[in-house]
Amino acid sequence: MKTAYFDNAATTPLDKRVFDEMRDYFFTDYGNASSLHSFGQKARFGVEKSREVIANIINAKESEIYFTSGGTESDNLAIKGTAFAYNNKGSHIITSSVEHPAVLNTCKFLEDIGFNVTYVPVDGYGMVNPSDVEKSITEKTILVSIMHANNEVGTINDIEEICKITRDKGVLFHSDAVQTFGKLPIDVNKFGVDLLTISGHKLYGPKGTGVLYVRKNVKMQSQIHGGSHERELRAGTENVPGIVGIGKAAEIKAEEMESDCKLLSELENYFRQKINESIDNVTLNGHNENRLPGFLNMSIGKTEGEIVLLSLDLEGVAISTGSACSSGSSEPSTVLDAMGLSPERIVSSIRITLGKQNTREEIDYALSVFPKVIERIRKLM
Ligand code: PLP
Repeated sequence: MKTAYFDNAATTPLDKRVFDEMRDYFFTDYGNASSLHSFGQKARFGVEKSREVIANIINAKESEIYFTSGGTESDNLAIKGTAFAYNNKGSHIITSSVEHPAVLNTCKFLEDIGFNVTYVPVDGYGMVNPSDVEKSITEKTILVSIMHANNEVGTINDIEEICKITRDKGVLFHSDAVQTFGKLPIDVNKFGVDLLTISGHKLYGPKGTGVLYVRKNVKMQSQIHGGSHERELRAGTENVPGIVGIGKAAEIKAEEMESDCKLLSELENYFRQKINESIDNVTLNGHNENRLPGFLNMSIGKTEGEIVLLSLDLEGVAISTGSACSSGSSEPSTVLDAMGLSPERIVSSIRITLGKQNTREEIDYALSVFPKVIERIRKLM
C-alpha cells in the first residue's frame, strides 16, 4: 500500500545528514561531556559546537543557550524557573488560551500552588491582540508567555509587538517557538524576548532534544536538581548525540529555510486547490495569510475529523485532528473553541501539515482516496 505522511507539525523524520553527524557520538566519541579525559573532551566539543551554532542562528550568546529534553521541558523550565525566581516580585503570569499543553498545564500547576494566571483570548484566526496583553499587566505580573505560532492552525503572533509592551512594563517575556524555528527568522534581540523554546524533532532532528534560550541576567530557578551541568540550571549527563543532532538540524534548517518554505507553500497551495476542486463544503480554519507555510487546518462539513483521520489511515494517509496530544482523547479542540468556531466546525476539523520530504505524487495519491472517503462518511452520517 502507498503511504503519505502529512502530520509534520506532530513530528518530522530525521534528516539523514543529522544522523550522519550524530553517529560517531554513539559509537566512538561516547564520553561523558563532563569527563576530563579526551573521550570526554570530544563529547564536550560536540556539545559546545552545537551551542555555538544555535546561538548564532538566533543572534544569542552561547552562554544564553541551555539544552533540555524537548519543547515540553523548555516550556516548564521557562515558566516555573522564572515564576519561582521572581516570586518575591509578584505571582501573576499572563499567557494565551491557545498555548500548547506544555505551557497551559504548567500554568495550571502554578495556579494550584497559589500563582494567578490570566489567559488572554484570541480572535477568530487564533491571534493574540497585543493590547489584551497590555491591559492584563499589573504590578504583580512577572512573566508573559505567548507562543510564536499556534500548533493547530499555524497562526503567527506578533511577538515583536508584545515584547515592546513587556519591555516597557519591565515584565519578562517567553515565547514557545517550537513550530516556527526553521520556518520563520528568529532574532532574539530584534524580537526582544527573554526566553524562547525550541524542539529538535520538529526540525528533522532527534526526538527528546530541546533548547531554552535565557537572556543574560534573567534569574532562573533550576527545575531538575543534581550535578552542575548546563551552568547549574539543568542537571543531568548531557545527551551528547541528541545535542549534536539538534545543532546540525538547526544548521540545516537555517541554511535551507527559504527553499523549504517555498516548497511548503507550493505543496500547500496545490493540496488546497485539489481539495477544493474535489470536495465541497470545506472551510479553512486560521488565518489565510498570516499562517505558517504547509499548515492546513480545515473543517469538512458533514463529517467528523476523527473518522476522516481513521479512514484515511486505512488508505495509508496520515493526517491529524488538532494537536497530536489531544488525538486519542475525543476532546474537542480547545484552540478552535477559543477561536469561537461552532461545534460543527470543530468536530469536523482536520489538520494537514506538510514537510520538506512530501511530494506532489503523495498529494495526488491522497487526493485519489480523499473524496471517496468523505463521500462514504457523509453517507453514514
Ligand atoms: N510547544 C508546541 C507549540 C508544540 O507544538 C509542541 C509539540 O507538539 C511542544 C511545545 C512540545 O515539544 P516536545 O514534543 O519537544 O516536548
